[in-house]
Amino acid sequence: MRKKVIAGNWKMNLNLSDSIKLVSQIKNGLSENDNVDVIVCPPFTSLETVYTLVKDSPVKLGAQNVHFEKSGAFTGEISTEMLKSVGCEYAIVGHSERRTIFNESDETINKKNKAVLTDGLKLIFCVGETLDEREKGITQKVIETQIKGGLAGINENDLKNIIIAYEPVWAIGTGKTASPEQAQEIHKFIRSLIEKLYSASASNDLVIQYGGSVKPNNAVELLSQEDIDGALVGGACLDSASFLEIIKAAY
Ligand code: PEP
Repeated sequence: MRKKVIAGNWKMNLNLSDSIKLVSQIKNGLSENDNVDVIVCPPFTSLETVYTLVKDSPVKLGAQNVHFEKSGAFTGEISTEMLKSVGCEYAIVGHSERRTIFNESDETINKKNKAVLTDGLKLIFCVGETLDEREKGITQKVIETQIKGGLAGINENDLKNIIIAYEPVWAIGTGKTASPEQAQEIHKFIRSLIEKLYSASASNDLVIQYGGSVKPNNAVELLSQEDIDGALVGGACLDSASFLEIIKAAY
């Protein structure tokens, strides 16, 4: 049985005091449940403080981005070591906003994925097609290219530290959710691709999250699909009541 994983990507929202407020509400509202892992991904500026608030709780900490070099003249970037030093356990790589707004290629994403895994963090690796690609009927081809590119040179041993998040770009922040059937179809495709690239057991153990306008009113249906093992939540994770409801939908 795969454990469900619900992660909240706060994006470029919430200053330090709002971060403290949100994470405290999440922590206090969680009921004990071993079937679900909860991850919060605040902005870099809140990571250290949020860690002090979650470190003795079931809530885990993730970063929204990371650089692949270890240190040096990379103004504005943050390394894996820096993330670990403030209590991060996870890093998100390949988010569509990084791919489109910041021009991150599959090659850059692959370097980041490798750095995350080599340096002992866990990875939330995002993939997803645009509306144009879906309408052209090339969704699976796009996902396959992103997965093969992002995971190039990464061996099966590392897969246990990887979550793949399927996030159709047309569903992110738009209020349009993939139907449970559309999402399940691609999750199943991803699982079969991982079986082809690695092995049946690696594919069976792989946690695949869905992301794209997940809300309390659609979470139960999405999370009850066979190959959907959790959610990467944007907008709805900024409201503790909504985020807690989505977590409960995974119980
Ligand atoms: C995201 O940014 O990863 C995301 C899924 O956002 P939203 O839930 O707002 O669509």
